[in-house]
Amino acid sequence: MPDSLFSLPDPIAVPVQGQLSVYPVGRIFCVGRNYAAHAAEMGHEVDRDAPFYFTKSAPNAVLSGATVPYPPGTENFHYEMELAVAVGKPVFRAGSAEAREAVYAYGCALDMTRRDLQIRERNKQRPWDLGKDLENGVVFAPLTAVADWSPKDNTRIHLSVNGEIRQDATLEELIWKIDEIISHLSGYYHLRPGDLILTGTPAGVGPVQAGDVIEGGIDGLQPVQLTLSAAE
Ligand code: MN
Repeated sequence: MPDSLFSLPDPIAVPVQGQLSVYPVGRIFCVGRNYAAHAAEMGHEVDRDAPFYFTKSAPNAVLSGATVPYPPGTENFHYEMELAVAVGKPVFRAGSAEAREAVYAYGCALDMTRRDLQIRERNKQRPWDLGKDLENGVVFAPLTAVADWSPKDNTRIHLSVNGEIRQDATLEELIWKIDEIISHLSGYYHLRPGDLILTGTPAGVGPVQAGDVIEGGIDGLQPVQLTLSAAE
């Protein structure tokens, strides 16, 4: 092996409740418009044709509890509270049973978004990367293994800013369920351990400012928190 010209930062790894080992973050897939009320607030009708995705880069992920600067290039920086699914075994073209067995753990996550850039690029039929794949733009809370938690229809998902509730829904509202997402996505990628899937956000997204504290929760999972400091 030749020497590397320079070294890269270590990829982040997410703690797992009750375990000494951590879950290294590989790829991050995000489902778009997976709650009808959120699709409506973004000006879209929901369809059941197929789920769609965008990605976030692993080096852009941070752990819950981080304080990060308000990002450059935006005047409309939004939170999105989401259920994250951590893949635990290799899976390709999975049926629904195999898809369910591929889940290793679940966790709370924030899909932070430069909404003005996302909408601008979307309207020009350009990719969403500037709006979505930003530095510190995805936040992971500690994971909980499937043996200890599973999503129920009445499981509440919520988010507050400075203690004021902004998103409040249940997982029953998910348009594409976990096994459907894994089954579909695994038709296009060889999913493997380290892959995390953010399953979309409920209604109530909105802007945050420097100084704000964002806290999200899903019943039974570890909460996720992010604090915004002044722009650099
Ligand atoms: Mn999202």
